Amino acid sequence: MMKCPNCQSKDLGKIGINQYYCWNCFIELSIGKDMIFTHQVEEDGTLSSLDDLFDEESRRLS
Ligand SMILES: [Zn+2]
Repeated sequence: MMKCPNCQSKDLGKIGINQYYCWNCFIELSIGKDMIFTHQVEEDGTLSSLDDLFDEESRRLS
């Protein structure tokens, strides 16, 4: 079961192919080969990466 690397919530909504949205902390997650990529939606609608905030271990799909 996938969980948000930011808040550990499992309350994730599917928004596209390999794309999820965390309803708890409002970040977007996209699923790579074996890694979760995290993005924040800015007020102007652009995405900025949050990957720097997490170490690779916490973003790895188990
Ligand atoms: Zn979250």
